[in-house]
Amino acid sequence: MPAAVLDTDALTRWLREFADAVAAEKQHLTQLDSAIGDADHGTNVDRGMTAVLAALEETPPTTVGEMFKLVGMTLVSKVGGASGPLLGTFFLRFGTTAGNHASIDAAVFAAALRAGLGGVVARGKAVAGDKTMYDALAPAVDALDDALARGDDLGAALGAAAEAANDGRDATTPMLARKGRASYLGERSIGHQDPGATSSALLIDAAARALG
Ligand code: ADP
Ligand code: MG
Repeated sequence: MPAAVLDTDALTRWLREFADAVAAEKQHLTQLDSAIGDADHGTNVDRGMTAVLAALEETPPTTVGEMFKLVGMTLVSKVGGASGPLLGTFFLRFGTTAGNHASIDAAVFAAALRAGLGGVVARGKAVAGDKTMYDALAPAVDALDDALARGDDLGAALGAAAEAANDGRDATTPMLARKGRASYLGERSIGHQDPGATSSALLIDAAARALG
């Protein structure tokens, strides 16, 4: 099977898919955040990804590392709230692990996603079951590694990762929030799907569609 080659054009298609999905789901994300937060999650991520696409067009990156440094810095600087710094750190760490190369392969992509997840944890200290974006991202990263280890090609592996992210997102509904604004609600956070886990599942699903 030919090794996947993910260059900055392919990875830009991933981010564009994600931005389109966030734009389409903006109201839904904000509605989820109105139940257990402050009703801005859809607006936050949409504003951030619009700024990311503009920045990539203005300064086309030549390496994957450079590209995700720009993506991360843009999100950290343009998005208020918890999700900007968290997603921004995710992409900054992704870029550091991807390195200053014109393209990366599936194994480096998986390692970069895991590093990104590590950035979310370093920044937000979430663990499994806290009802955050971690609960969608962590199962996805695990599923991707497992699928690549058993010899799946990137398309199949990303399909498995997207399924795991969607299951992880759904599993946040009965959880009691222990991090972020939703944690202020205590027991009243139970029974609502986490907005950050929902947008993170869109990120993995976008990867499956754009890179698979
Ligand atoms: P804010 O809560 O500041 O308004 P957003 O509404 O944009 O920011 O994002 C809320 C989402 O951020 C939550 O649904 C949750 O998934 C995520 N989140 C909040 N705090 C943390 C944390 N400490 N670690 C990981 N994710 C978190
Ligand atoms: Mg919010």
